[in-house]
Amino acid sequence: MRLIIFGPPGSGKGTYSAKLKEKLGIEKISTGDIFRAEVKKQSDLGKKVENYLKQGLLVPDEIVIEVVKNIIDKIKDNFILDGFPRTVKQAEWLLNYTKIDAVIKINVHDEILIEKISARRICSNPNCDGNYNIAFIDKVIDGIHYYLPPLLPKEDMKCDKCGSPLIQRDDDKPEVVKKRLEIYHQQTKPVEEFLRKSGVKFIEIWMNKEPEKIANEIIEKLKELKV
Ligand code: AMP
Repeated sequence: MRLIIFGPPGSGKGTYSAKLKEKLGIEKISTGDIFRAEVKKQSDLGKKVENYLKQGLLVPDEIVIEVVKNIIDKIKDNFILDGFPRTVKQAEWLLNYTKIDAVIKINVHDEILIEKISARRICSNPNCDGNYNIAFIDKVIDGIHYYLPPLLPKEDMKCDKCGSPLIQRDDDKPEVVKKRLEIYHQQTKPVEEFLRKSGVKFIEIWMNKEPEKIANEIIEKLKELKV
C-alpha cells in the first residue's frame, strides 16, 4: 500500500500517519521530520537544508526528491508520505517513479484550525515534548459538526511530565497561523489538481473528531476503495 497524506499545518497529519503506521504496519515517511533530524545531527544534508527550514521556505526539489528516492528504494512498498509532494515537479517525479494507491486529504475549515492551533500550549522546558490544547470546540460550520475536546494538563498550565510552565510557540500565534495557511493553500492547490488529473484515487476526511476516530475512518475508506 502506497499512500500520500495531505492536509494543512495543524490538521494532525503527523498523528494520523503515526496511527496508520501502527494499525496497518506501514512506514511513515515525513520529509519535515527527516530534515529536522538531519539539521539536529548537523550532517551534510542537514547543513544544506538548515536555512530553508529556518525561513519556512521549500527545500529545492532535487534535494527532497533524492531523499525520498533513497527511502522508497529501501522500503519499496507499504508507506505513507507526509509532507511530500509539495510541488508539481515532486508529484510528477513521484508518479513516474512509483505507483500511488490513494491520496488521503484532510479537510478542515481555516477558522477551526486557527482556533485549535492558537490554543496549543507546549512545555517551556526545551528537553520535554509536553504538548497540550486548551480549546474545546463543539460547533457546526457548513453542515460539518466539529467535536474536538481539549487536551488539558492535570495542574493548571503546568506540564504533566516535568512540571514546567506551559507556553505558546511563536508560530502558533493567530497572525502567523493565518500566513502559514495562506502559503499552504497556494502550494497545495496545483499539486492536488495535478494528482487528481493523473487519476490517483482520493479519500476525503474531515478533521472534526478525535484522532483515533479519524484514523479508523481512513482505514474504513481504504477498505471501501479496496486499497
Ligand atoms: P513540515 O514539517 O512538513 O512542515 O516541513 C518542515 C520544513 O521542511 C518545510 O517548511 C520545508 O522547509 C521543508 N520541507 C519538508 N518537506 C518538503 C518538501 N516536500 N519540499 C520542500 N521542502 C520541504
